Amino acid sequence: MLGMGWFPATLGGLDRYYRSLLEHLPEARGVVIGPAGDAPPSVRVVAAQDSALPKRLLSYWLAARRASKSAEVVDSHFALYAAAPLLSRSLRGQPKVFHFQGPWAQENVAAGDGSRIRFVLRRALERRVLRGADAHIVLSSAFRRVIVEDYRVVPWHVNVWAPGVALDVFTPGDRSGARARLGLDPEAFVTVCVRRLVPRMGVRSLIDAWARIADELPASSVLLIVGEGPLRADLAERVAQLGLSAGVRMLGRVSDEELLDVYRAADVAAVPTVAFEGYGLVVLEAAACGTPSIVSDVGGLPEAATPLDRSLVVAPGDTEALGERIRAASHGALPSRAAARAYAERFAWPAVAERHRDLYRRLIAGERDERPRVVYLDHVARLSGGEIALLRVLPHLRRVNAHVILGEEGPLADRLAQAGVSVEVLPIAASLRDLRRESVRVGGASPVAVWQTLAYVVRLARRLRRLRPDIVHTNSLKAGVYGILACRALGIPVVWHVRDRISADYIPRPAVRLIRALVRLADGLVANSTSTLETVSGAARQSGQWVISDSVELSPYPREADGGATTFGMLGRIAPWKGQDLFLRAFAAAFPDGEERAVVVGAPMFGEEDYEREVHQLAASLGLTGRVEFRGFREDIWRELARFDVLVHASVIPEPFGQVVLEGMAAGLAVLAPDEGGPAAVIADGETGRLFRSRDAGSLAAAMRELSEDGSARERLGASARGAVEPYRPDAVAGRLEEVYDCVLGAAARD
Ligand code: UDP
Repeated sequence: MLGMGWFPATLGGLDRYYRSLLEHLPEARGVVIGPAGDAPPSVRVVAAQDSALPKRLLSYWLAARRASKSAEVVDSHFALYAAAPLLSRSLRGQPKVFHFQGPWAQENVAAGDGSRIRFVLRRALERRVLRGADAHIVLSSAFRRVIVEDYRVVPWHVNVWAPGVALDVFTPGDRSGARARLGLDPEAFVTVCVRRLVPRMGVRSLIDAWARIADELPASSVLLIVGEGPLRADLAERVAQLGLSAGVRMLGRVSDEELLDVYRAADVAAVPTVAFEGYGLVVLEAAACGTPSIVSDVGGLPEAATPLDRSLVVAPGDTEALGERIRAASHGALPSRAAARAYAERFAWPAVAERHRDLYRRLIAGERDERPRVVYLDHVARLSGGEIALLRVLPHLRRVNAHVILGEEGPLADRLAQAGVSVEVLPIAASLRDLRRESVRVGGASPVAVWQTLAYVVRLARRLRRLRPDIVHTNSLKAGVYGILACRALGIPVVWHVRDRISADYIPRPAVRLIRALVRLADGLVANSTSTLETVSGAARQSGQWVISDSVELSPYPREADGGATTFGMLGRIAPWKGQDLFLRAFAAAFPDGEERAVVVGAPMFGEEDYEREVHQLAASLGLTGRVEFRGFREDIWRELARFDVLVHASVIPEPFGQVVLEGMAAGLAVLAPDEGGPAAVIADGETGRLFRSRDAGSLAAAMRELSEDGSARERLGASARGAVEPYRPDAVAGRLEEVYDCVLGAAARD
């Protein structure tokens, strides 16, 4: 194991991680730069941190060469030191693993090294070393994105493994003793921040956040800042300037015992990083002592914090949000200490080390991951229906090595990464990405759009040539178009997932013709419903066509029935064809006055703001002001659905699938939907929901009135609906997709 320095002589996350891993792998030999007074005999210590770089590199190289003579696998942690041994002939034989602990070249820039040449050289060296490895280990999905996007490493052998934490050292211990030793009031509200004092750690923003809320915090609240670094004097000055000296204490570097006291004494830890954070080991250390952390949304921090409580994550550098979250914590809005410890217990070092051992064993035995490699394409990263469907199913694929390429940065990229799915962004020109489907005219699209599409096809083809997937799966209409062109050029099989109606009631005729022609080139066609499939009928080629529904999990929340007047809700993006206007007109007709309430959840996503304004005006002109609530886009839809009694789906052209219908059922609601398209196939009328005559406000109003009057019918429909979504479980749907890949690959092999 080729390391950097030896912890604690060198203080850094990389060195701490390296030492812990080595100690849990007694069969491993190590090489580090000294000093390393307490290193075991299995570690060769060469040169010293303060010796000249050429000397360090040369002695490291020689030691690495000697140590690796008897090694069966080489695992490196730092590109600069590992470069010579890895790239020279001496180590060509053994399989190589690289632990990517952070973008070294960029970190140097962030730390103030302004030399462009040094940056370019460092980056080039890192790329060479990284690309030469047979397998990579990163601590978070966020860092997987970095090595795939910035270093162009292929994603297939990247392992995302959170670090371990020393659960026997970091324990909840004696909290009041810890407070007494630190001179803290037993009742005080205590926040800690344990970090190296360098700019990227964002400690200054924490001090500023504290200044905002200091007056509102309980008396004797304290912020402890632990750590050393070049910013120490500046930060101390800031504290004095803001008049915070009474409540903010800078402890500098502390001993291991004091560090434990700090974690144990604290109510909450703050990790306000603004750039580059592979994981944030401090989050686990604090949790192991029973202290939850409020973190910024940077790098791997959300992955470390959200499993405990999603609300612990705030935007980086946003002093207001950070202050607010700390203030809420002072009022008790935090996971319990027991929950924090239980969470940390998932990260035992022996288990982490065993995972490494297993990887080494497989590499030595020459075992390969034989699962088909599937690249998923989508042109957007917004949380729209097709994208949510993808997000739900991908984490459940077991027999596939999946990687997603998105055309824009956005919440889908973050959510996929957080769900452990490999993702990268290959940006599409915004004008092409946001080109409205209505603007595809007779005689073809505009020359600019054609040119941009072809340019993107070339870029994508270049990327796919490097990735060498077995299958490309296109998830949106635009991705279907550019995906099929790139893949036909490269001879990669394509599964085209159609989630929209390919018919003139949804897209212009020229686009219908274009898509139907292109779909014919796909090797497999998946439609989200029979009615969608019928719109592309006759299009599929040899390997066939499948109808695979979208998926849903049961709502995690119970209904919040308040026993009051019935609440009718609509959920979905705001767009003319989604029929928010039909819903409001039917509601007004059904309940001209009365207690019933209407709720509209959702927002325009693809430029339908004019329609949204019309819907608001309509509500006013129907006299519904005060009885209709517009909630805007909500990510946590289950909370919204818990407050509904009836979910109304009102699309005025046949809905291709309508995940919203499944979601309403999974939340145990009575669902009212039109008698056509996807919803009509999902709902058994009168048993698991109610169908009304599509586009008919009168029919919808009558059904709404009935359900308002008959609470027991609502209950009965909701209960059977919840039971009926079982076949739509994400793992079941993922299994069906895997069968499609089997067929397509089988057919490709026969060709
Ligand atoms: N959705 C959401 N928040 C909102 C409105 C909608 O998360 O405020 C989600 C909704 O829960 C569903 C998706 O957007 O998962 C819409 O999918 P659907 O298949 O119903 O329609 P599409 O948008 O694909 O036409």
